[in-house]
Amino acid sequence: MKISHEKILPANKFRFSHKFDLKDILIVGHGLAGAILSHSLLQAGQRVVVLEGKMPFSASSVAAGIINPLIGPKLNLPPQMGDCLKEAVHFHQSFAEEYAQNHLEKISLRRIFLSGQQREIWKKRQTSSDSTAYTDSIESEAKSSLLGLYSPHGSGVTHAHRLNVQGFLKQSKDILKDKDLWMDAKFDPKDWAPSQKVVFCEGYGVLENPWFQKLPFEPAQGEVLRVEGPCQVPASNGTWYLPEKENTAYAGSTWNHHQLECGPTERGKRTILENLSYLNIDQYRIVGHASGIRSSTKDRFPILGRHPKISQYHLFNGFGSRGSTTIPFFARQMVDLLTKNIPPSRKACLSRFQT
Ligand SMILES: Cc1cc2nc3c(=O)[nH]c(=O)nc-3n(C[C@H](O)[C@H](O)[C@H](O)COP(=O)(O)OP(=O)(O)OC[C@H]3O[C@@H](n4cnc5c(N)ncnc54)[C@H](O)[C@@H]3O)c2cc1C
Repeated sequence: MKISHEKILPANKFRFSHKFDLKDILIVGHGLAGAILSHSLLQAGQRVVVLEGKMPFSASSVAAGIINPLIGPKLNLPPQMGDCLKEAVHFHQSFAEEYAQNHLEKISLRRIFLSGQQREIWKKRQTSSDSTAYTDSIESEAKSSLLGLYSPHGSGVTHAHRLNVQGFLKQSKDILKDKDLWMDAKFDPKDWAPSQKVVFCEGYGVLENPWFQKLPFEPAQGEVLRVEGPCQVPASNGTWYLPEKENTAYAGSTWNHHQLECGPTERGKRTILENLSYLNIDQYRIVGHASGIRSSTKDRFPILGRHPKISQYHLFNGFGSRGSTTIPFFARQMVDLLTKNIPPSRKACLSRFQT
């Protein structure tokens, strides 16, 4: 974090600065984070320019967009779930009012119980005040079987959501291009005036960013399969199955902290297929296989804020495996920081790493 901005500026200065106003906020990266932040800033009356460098392994290009309120084997409610969901619904509704398409939909996700104990936890969640809104009835093994799901301990119907991430990003890009706010380029400081306000939303690309790469990121590679088969309902036992159109579905995913840039692997494919034990896998055919890299953090909270020394450089990153849920909520905090100088919440603020 000690690199001086001025020292690294070479001769070919400010290639793009003449095209844009210094009042424009430069958003680097158009994954889910950059896209949602850009539209949140536009809605707040700000001007933005979006720079997208088509870096490999973008998480958003493979994300299923599931917003699952009860996660892990203990069916825990993640922190601030209610607030995050409210903000996500609000963001996508406002986007739909302006651009005529809502990419966020409600889904009924069958939580396949792995044990009788898990079914008991579900029953507790049904009556607890913070999670009751997300839990519906328990379905028996026989009922699950009619849906094409093998679930000897039954399954719980979860009120979940699904964001069509790739559909949203495609429309967002078209809108930004129409407004002449889009550039296909990788960020290079010599192209921009030093006083340009920049927000880096680079996902895994942050590891190449000299100003923020030392922060405690813990990236994780993940894989998804696209399959053709009979089951028509979303389900999960920790590994999810998400029907799409024309008898196809997405299934995933995996976690790998070591070989990040290996691309889709045989091992990843095998792991997903083995974990889909609630489907009769012989009836399914694999038609696609992809991987991406989640930009996770060691303490599991995103990192947003202003660089301690270069005040025009900002970070909006670290959304891990739950960007569809959390990004709209934290985008609001980022807008407040950029426009009103209100710092983000302590748990998410970059300043938590400064001693
Ligand atoms: C297999 C898998 C499944 C997932 N499923 C879900 C799910 O079901 N639900 C959910 O909520 N989340 C899911 N996620 C997580 C979700 O994808 C992320 O939380 C979210 O997409 C992160 O978005 P991002 O914009 O921070 O990063 P990315 O999506 O990685 O976007 C970063 C963008 O920045 C660009 N970029 C990087 N560096 C530069 C540069 N220097 N100059 C210009 N452009 C640059 C890249 O090209 C890229 O487009 C999944 C992730 C994976 C890998």
